[in-house]
Amino acid sequence: MSNAASSTKEIHVDVAVIGGGVMGIALARQLLLVASSSSPDAASTASSQPSSRPTTVALVEALPFMLCGASAGNSAMIHCGFDCTTGTVEHAMVVRGHRLFSEYAADCARRGLYLPWVPSGAIMLAMSNEEMSIVRDDILPKAVANGVTNTKLLTSREEVLALEPHVHLNVVGGLHVPSEWIVDPWRYPALLLAEAATAPGLSIIRSCRVTSVRREEEEGGGGPYHQWYRLFDHKGQCRVKARMVVNCAGLKGDAVEALLHSTNHSSPPPRLAFDVFPRLGRFIQFGPEAAPLVQRALLPIPTKKSKGIIVFRTVYGQVFVGPTAEDPDEPRASQSAVVKSLRNAASSKVPALKDVQDVATYAGARPALRQRQDYLIDLDSRDIGWFTVAGVRSTGLTASLAVAELVAPRVLQQLLMTTSSNSSSSCRASPPQTVAPYCINSAPLPSAEAVNASLQMLLGPGGPLSYDRRHPISSEGCPTPKL
Ligand SMILES: Cc1cc2nc3c(=O)[nH]c(=O)nc-3n(C[C@H](O)[C@H](O)[C@H](O)COP(=O)(O)OP(=O)(O)OC[C@H]3O[C@@H](n4cnc5c(N)ncnc54)[C@H](O)[C@@H]3O)c2cc1C
Repeated sequence: MSNAASSTKEIHVDVAVIGGGVMGIALARQLLLVASSSSPDAASTASSQPSSRPTTVALVEALPFMLCGASAGNSAMIHCGFDCTTGTVEHAMVVRGHRLFSEYAADCARRGLYLPWVPSGAIMLAMSNEEMSIVRDDILPKAVANGVTNTKLLTSREEVLALEPHVHLNVVGGLHVPSEWIVDPWRYPALLLAEAATAPGLSIIRSCRVTSVRREEEEGGGGPYHQWYRLFDHKGQCRVKARMVVNCAGLKGDAVEALLHSTNHSSPPPRLAFDVFPRLGRFIQFGPEAAPLVQRALLPIPTKKSKGIIVFRTVYGQVFVGPTAEDPDEPRASQSAVVKSLRNAASSKVPALKDVQDVATYAGARPALRQRQDYLIDLDSRDIGWFTVAGVRSTGLTASLAVAELVAPRVLQQLLMTTSSNSSSSCRASPPQTVAPYCINSAPLPSAEAVNASLQMLLGPGGPLSYDRRHPISSEGCPTPKL
């Protein structure tokens, strides 16, 4: 791995991934692992064998540290998809991401890598007969339709209390969802980055906000097979020259997408129009006395806007309540008002939390889209070597491996055609029509020793993961790093 944080010289790579959040990291890892395994599925669609040199990937991050955007403040849950809107991209990615996470966790255990996660399960609580009808008539059938068949309807207060004895006595029932899990939401993507960084082809470029993009076509025709993208930072300096670009810029995904339509381009590609709006989620943490009061995540009935306010216990035993769902066009409540309402929400589910002090707060902002309530994954539909992963709002921690699994082979297919088209003939190869299935487990994952060494380097002084996480988190969900 090269860590080009301080250097401002231009580097040339096969793929530039814009955004060092959980999506960009998972994708960079997948590109490097898929490429290093020379996936026959990916290779077979190209007209020549992959070159023997490793694929090169630049992970370009605007901030000085990785995982400081939306990925900095979430609820740490690995969702099973029981409550997703059936048939959406999000549904498919969450279900697959859950499966890939469990395989990855098993693989970490086999390799001796420390990945803290707990298959804690969750209970969606019905606090009234109306809510019980919603659970029975809407949520349970949806879970079945979504392929989550191990849920159990809890039809009485006693059944709920047998699992969670501290829940409010007003509870009338609920839905037990054993496959909602909790993970260390920082260590998990940090491990993915450490794995990616064991590959020789990764460059991590930090403090580089891409503010302008130039697409340069080579002689011999346009399209992704005869072109380079040049990515410029805020000082107007070209930092990366790449054959392919993947926009994983989260909360700024729309701004990065708009760069494609800047005046730099003689023939701008068709517009992929979408607007991101940051939906703020604030949390509070209770003191250690709360630990025995909650075992599973306690979910409310979801609203149209969000999954609602959850009471949950982390892998380390701290109890949290949150997140709020505050849109930018709504009046922003004061922190004290939010703390009060979160405390009320928590004690309406677990009354004993009323007597436990709150000790900390944090926040994250979901990259929601104005145009749709779903992910937007564009697999280079414009045939310009530009991929987009946007609108990954409330479930990206879960879905990251699945999105990476979907996008990476397609990027590599395009890349292989670039290579073959440039080396063997000036004729343009046909773009691939289908995404070859790729099994992540066939990739040779690096050893625990290699990953741990790489993690130490990333965490080390000034490293990409070395920010002080005890520092307060701003309302944009980005911790202000201690420099
Ligand atoms: C309150 C809350 C609770 C959540 N709970 C869960 C949960 O329990 N389970 C779950 O699975 N998911 C959850 N999520 C969702 C999950 O956290 C997000 O889906 C995920 O973090 C999105 O990751 P990302 O990489 O797309 O975006 P980000 O993490 O925002 O990464 C994008 C990166 O791009 C960088 N960037 C932006 N513009 C530029 C530029 N011009 N040049 C270079 N870099 C740029 C940013 O600095 C940022 O680091 C939650 C989210 C929130 C906010």
